[in-house]
Amino acid sequence: MSPRQSNETIQRLVEEQINLPSPPAIAAQILNTVQNEDSSLADLKKIISADPALTGKMLHIANSAFYSLPNKVTNITRAMSILGTNVIKNIALSFVIAKDLQGQQTACFDLELFWRRSVTTAVAAELVKKLTTIADDDIFVTALLQNLGILILALSKGEEYCTLLNTCRMGDDSALLLQLEQEKYQFNHQQLSYTLIRSWGLPESISEPMYYHREPEKAPEEIRQVARVLSTANLLSTIYHETETSEDVLLLQDKMEELFGLNTQQTQDLLNDVAQQSIDILTIFDIDPGQIKPYTQMLQEANEELGQLNFSYQQLVMALKESKEKAERFASELQKANKQLEELAFRDGLTNLYNHRYFQEILEKEIARARRYKKNLCLIIFDIDFFKKVNDNYGHPAGDQVLIALAKRLQAAVRPSDILARYGGEEFMLILPETEESGMKVFAERLRRCVAGITTKVNSFEIKVTISSGGVQFSPDLEGVTKQELIDTADRALFISKKKGRDRFTILHLPPNPDELK
Ligand code: GH3
Ligand code: MG
Ligand code: MG
Repeated sequence: MSPRQSNETIQRLVEEQINLPSPPAIAAQILNTVQNEDSSLADLKKIISADPALTGKMLHIANSAFYSLPNKVTNITRAMSILGTNVIKNIALSFVIAKDLQGQQTACFDLELFWRRSVTTAVAAELVKKLTTIADDDIFVTALLQNLGILILALSKGEEYCTLLNTCRMGDDSALLLQLEQEKYQFNHQQLSYTLIRSWGLPESISEPMYYHREPEKAPEEIRQVARVLSTANLLSTIYHETETSEDVLLLQDKMEELFGLNTQQTQDLLNDVAQQSIDILTIFDIDPGQIKPYTQMLQEANEELGQLNFSYQQLVMALKESKEKAERFASELQKANKQLEELAFRDGLTNLYNHRYFQEILEKEIARARRYKKNLCLIIFDIDFFKKVNDNYGHPAGDQVLIALAKRLQAAVRPSDILARYGGEEFMLILPETEESGMKVFAERLRRCVAGITTKVNSFEIKVTISSGGVQFSPDLEGVTKQELIDTADRALFISKKKGRDRFTILHLPPNPDELK
C-alpha cells in the first residue's frame, strides 16, 4: 500500500496545472446551508423551491422507484421529512452540479457518455449499498462525482488527456489509468476529484472514499467498504456503457461474491435493477439513457441472435444436404454417361486394343477404301487355345494378365497401319490393309510364333499359351462381298485350325472353295 500523499501536496500539484472550476452558485448555496450550523431546513427548502425545475426534479426522483416510497410525495418539505435532509441535499447537489458541468465544450471527450456513466455509477452505488450493511447517505453523490477528475482533466488538457484515456479503454482499465495519470501529471484523477470537491466544501464523508474509488484496497479500513461499493459501481456502469460486457460480468460476479457475499442470481438481479433504475434517473437528469437495457434483456437478445445463427446454420445444413443429393444424382448420371461413353469409345478396357464396335466400323471403311483404291486387304482372326484351362488352373485374374501381356506384345509386333482389335473374350481380329495373301501367311506365322514365345508370370506361375488363327483375303475385284462374309470366312478358317489341332493358321478364300472346307 503506497502512503497517501498529503492533501497540501496534492492541492499544490493540482493547482499548478489545473484551473479548478468553482461550484455552480446554487450548489454553493446548498453547501452553505449544510455547513452553516445556524441555517435551517427551511433555508435548504427555500433554495430548492426558488428553482422550479430543480423542485420538479427533486419530487420526481423522490417519487421514483429508486426510493420506493409507499405514498406519493407532493412537496419538498414532505420529501425532506421522509428521505431526510441529507438525502435531499445530496440529490439537489447532484442535479445542480451535473447540470452545470453538462454544458461544457470538449472536442475529443464524449460528455454525454461521461454523465450517462456517472449517473449509472451513482444509481449502482446506491443499489449496491442497499445490499450491504453500510449506512451512507452520501454514496449517490459521491459516486456521481467520483470521476469528475477525468472530466476536469479532459477539459483542461484536451487531446493530450483524451489520448491517455484511449490507451486504457476509456479509463476502464483503472490501474493503467491511474499509473499513466501519475506519470504525466504527478497526481491522478481520484486525487483531482478529491481536491475539487474539497475546494467546494463538500464533507470528508464524500471526499475520503472518493479518493480511493479505483483502488479500494488501499483505503483506510473505516472507509474501505464504501470505497469498494464505489469501485463496484464503476464496474456496473462499465457493463452497461462499454462493449466488453461478458468479461466484466464475470469479474463483477467474482467481486460481488468476494466483497459482499452475493450469489450469481443476486448479482444478476442487481444488474437488472441498475439498468431499470438508471433509465428512470437519467431521464430525470435530462440525459439520454442511450443503449442501456436490463442485463437479462441483453442476455435474451444475445440468445435470440444465437437462435438466429442456429437457424441459419440449420438452413445452411439443409442447403448443403440438398446440394449433396444433387451432386450425388449428378455423379450417378455422370457415371452412367461415362459408362455409355466407355461403351462407345474405341478402346477395350482390359487390353487397350480397339474394341469390337470400332473393329466393325473400321473394317467397313477399310473394305470401302480397298475397293476404291483397288488394293487387297487381309483379315486374320485368332483365338487363344484352351484358354478356359488358364482360368481354371490359375484363376480369372491370371487369365486377364495373359490377355494384357499378349495384347501388348502383339500391338508392338504389328505395323502402325495394321488394326489389331479384341473381338471377343479371347478372340482377336487383325486387319492388314494393302496386304497380299502371301504377306498374310508370313505375318500369321510370325504372330503364332510370337504368342507361343510369350511367358506370362503370375505369382509363381509361368503361363504360356498358343493361338489358332484363320485368315481371308479381300480383293477389290470381288464384287458384292460383304464385311460379314469376310468375318465369317475368317472365322471358319479359325475353326479349321482348331479342328486340325490348334496352334496353327488356316486360310480360306472368297468365293469359297469347297475343297478348303473339308
Ligand atoms: P479353345 O481352344 O477351343 O478356344 O478353348 P478355350 O478354352 O479357349 O475356349 P472356350 O470358348 O471354351 O473358352 C474361352 C474362355 O476364355 C472362357 C472364358 O472364361 C475365357 N475368357 C473370355 N474372356 C476373358 C477375359 O476377359 N478374361 C479371362 N481371364 N478369361 C476370359
Ligand atoms: Mg479359345
Ligand atoms: Mg473363343
